[in-house]
Amino acid sequence: MATNITWHGNITHEERATLIKKNGITLWLTGLSASGKSTIACALETYLLQQGVQAYRLDGDNIRFGLNKDLGFSEKDRNENIRRISEVAKLFADSCTVALTSFISPYRKDRDAARKLHDDAKLPFIEVFVDAPLEVVEKRDPKGLYKKAREGIIKNFTGISDPYEAPLKPEIHLHTDKQTVEECVQVIVKYLQEKKFI
Ligand code: ADP
Repeated sequence: MATNITWHGNITHEERATLIKKNGITLWLTGLSASGKSTIACALETYLLQQGVQAYRLDGDNIRFGLNKDLGFSEKDRNENIRRISEVAKLFADSCTVALTSFISPYRKDRDAARKLHDDAKLPFIEVFVDAPLEVVEKRDPKGLYKKAREGIIKNFTGISDPYEAPLKPEIHLHTDKQTVEECVQVIVKYLQEKKFI
């Protein structure tokens, strides 16, 4: 039986980070569908894990099909989708994990709310604008969604029939029409190293 247990209520984030020697942050990837958010988040997650950095990706698969499966694509539902993701990302960051979120998150006010949530908890929030012109992402169209949106089969499609409000001051601005996936990952890693987050 363990005898050296000391009760310690309400451990703070700083105490947790000191004990497990890891930093928690949220990297918030935003951009049009097919701009490359998931591809970059996957490559970055793999890289970070290989370096021994605890990282976890929140994306459509584990959020839209689970926690948020009750939500659609109206503006109200998109707001709620992002609000819940913000709260979950904050919890991951608080647990000293690098939370990687890859969602279109088209509305500035929702992303700003996600940022404020982290600011209030003194957790770093890094907005990464995964940028590519509409012509480029429409040509990529890996899931055929732009085609369906143009045909009116999919309503409320960001960039076609719904707005995308580009970040005004993202911490990182990637151009996936000009930079390769590896270059994009390198830009983010360099930023994290310079800021001593990893
Ligand atoms: P999103 O998550 O933003 O909807 P995806 O990552 O699912 O986008 O799809 C982006 C597509 O664009 C993929 O097929 C990917 O291979 C391709 N692609 C081409 N160049 C890049 C790049 N520089 N960065 C990321 N994806 C790229």
